[in-house]
Amino acid sequence: MEKKAFVTKEQVEEIVKTYPTPFHIYDEKGIRENAQALKEAFAWNKGYKEFFAVKATPNPFLLRILKDCGCGSDCSSYTELMLSDAAGISGREIMFSSNDTPAEDYLLADKLNATINLDDFTHIAFLEKVLGKLPERLSLRYNPGGVFTSANGIMDNPGDAKYGMTKEQLFEAYKILKDKGVKEFGLHAFLASNTVSNDYYPTLAGQLFTLAAEIKKELGVSLSFINLSGGVGIPYRPDQEANDIRVIGEGVRKVYEEILTPAGLGDVAIYTELGRFMLGPYGMLVTKAIHEKHIHKEYIGVDACAVNLMRPAMYGAYHHITVLGKEDAPRDHLYDVTGSLCENNDKFAIDRMLPRIEPGDYLAIHDTGAHGFSMGYNYNGKLWSAELLLRTDGSVQLIRRAETPADYFATFDCFDEFRSLWERK
Ligand SMILES: *Cc1c(COP(=O)(O)O)cnc(C)c1O
Repeated sequence: MEKKAFVTKEQVEEIVKTYPTPFHIYDEKGIRENAQALKEAFAWNKGYKEFFAVKATPNPFLLRILKDCGCGSDCSSYTELMLSDAAGISGREIMFSSNDTPAEDYLLADKLNATINLDDFTHIAFLEKVLGKLPERLSLRYNPGGVFTSANGIMDNPGDAKYGMTKEQLFEAYKILKDKGVKEFGLHAFLASNTVSNDYYPTLAGQLFTLAAEIKKELGVSLSFINLSGGVGIPYRPDQEANDIRVIGEGVRKVYEEILTPAGLGDVAIYTELGRFMLGPYGMLVTKAIHEKHIHKEYIGVDACAVNLMRPAMYGAYHHITVLGKEDAPRDHLYDVTGSLCENNDKFAIDRMLPRIEPGDYLAIHDTGAHGFSMGYNYNGKLWSAELLLRTDGSVQLIRRAETPADYFATFDCFDEFRSLWERK
């Protein structure tokens, strides 16, 4: 599939007059259309709800757009809970799926009346101690161990993952919680990441639905929701075929009708906690080529670096690059596209065929809408970029300003002797 940038060179030339590169820009139209397609794919399930994984793109303006599309939020930390609250997402609209959870985080989740998803058996006692009681509604995270396979082969390795509880612990946990008066129960599992296959959700659903039927039969506990969590991926490479969310929704419906309905569980709500699928393709990192270097290889140096997008450096992840204004030019130059960190893995592309790039050209690095900006850091004294929103009417809105040196030094603001660093001029 041909990957097209959702802004043109002319648009970027206009934008940089106000907001210099590098910046992340998000496409409101794409976000809304995709969220609508997801909603329609699961419309057959009365209680269906998507809880957007805040960690993927923690920006309150984007959370508000998703809320407007019917989504809640999935939080994993104190500040993510604060952010959801600030964006107007509250109570049952918040799923709190954390692990290794600090006490303060549970306290805030409970205060906001979020649905708490317990990652471990020992957290039952921990939560009870921290809150002085148990909430009326709780979800449990399951880890079946082993490898996760679908018809298309192995997808991931839950046996190596730190998350969730074993089947024995899960059954014991529901029993204890029921005895302690918990009234409403959920089940959650996240067993494979970035799956580019329509099989993942239906296969996972089959496993969880079978488990739910067993839980009902053995313990007399009827779950009120099953959370398929995240893991539906996106095609980062142009030769990959995108997931078809309608096919995925239908696949889940089929196993629901085969397993849950006959088990007397036809009222169970299906929840999802997608991050990457919701925003990944609708964000790009726009950066300017500032240097070209000819040594043993050909390098293009840009004004963004791995602090703005860590995935290539961290996982060797592929992110497609469009040289704006040269969309139709032949890709006849072999480049490494680099940032300026003192780390040789600071490369957005290695041995990539691209059109001839000249300093001053703008590059759009695709699919940075999720796990892009959010994974940023400050190594080498680099600052966080701005985030911009391309609105449905074509206008551009600043949704997070770029960091300044004063922000970088703000944690010295308790030291008067360094006032010159942190005082905003
Ligand atoms: C990361 C995460 C998600 C979102 O994952 P994606 O791959 O972005 O869909 C959902 N739920 C939990 C608990 C997570 O940790």
